[in-house]
Amino acid sequence: MTGPAVDIIPARRGKAVALAKGQTIRVINTPGTQVLDTWAFNRGDLGESMSMEHSRSFNSKIMLGVGDSYVSERRRPMLTVVEDTSPGIHDTLLCACNRYIYEEQGCREYHRNCTDNLHEALAEMGLKIPFTPAPLNLFMNIPVNPDRSISRLPPVSRAGDHVRLKAAMDLVVVFSACPQDMSPINGAQKTPRDAHYAIES
Ligand SMILES: [Zn+2]
Repeated sequence: MTGPAVDIIPARRGKAVALAKGQTIRVINTPGTQVLDTWAFNRGDLGESMSMEHSRSFNSKIMLGVGDSYVSERRRPMLTVVEDTSPGIHDTLLCACNRYIYEEQGCREYHRNCTDNLHEALAEMGLKIPFTPAPLNLFMNIPVNPDRSISRLPPVSRAGDHVRLKAAMDLVVVFSACPQDMSPINGAQKTPRDAHYAIES
């Protein structure tokens, strides 16, 4: 039996993928511990992007599940969740990591980060945008506490868990295998690892 080709999202790196309307992408948390910052852009107009603030407003939820759609700032569905084998814990609240966050954490040398991964991955496709939208942080475990503070905890997903997302329009989707190795958001071992994806028709 042969299925769709499985490609890598290398640890600490970004990957941009073109997705046609109606196609589904399976995003695989191969080690179970890897957070994947995820963005989507209208392929015909990169100025329209998947918006976490509008997705929370549109769905009246801070965490979306099967049947829910992530929408753009123009309130148009971009990616719909069609399957989730993980416990369904994903984050829509936190920003992408950037070099300044690592400097705050005491890093004195350049540290790879999701913001630069986004722009590097787009550049590999010959694309450029002047902004960094808030990402969908797949598999990232950021519980809201009773006092409405948040915690940063290791993922609860298991090795091989996957999410299937269906494109509601022609998209460029970008993933970053988050390079965070100074806090446990990529697991207690604080070790970024490879993840994978497969495009299904
Ligand atoms: Zn990151």
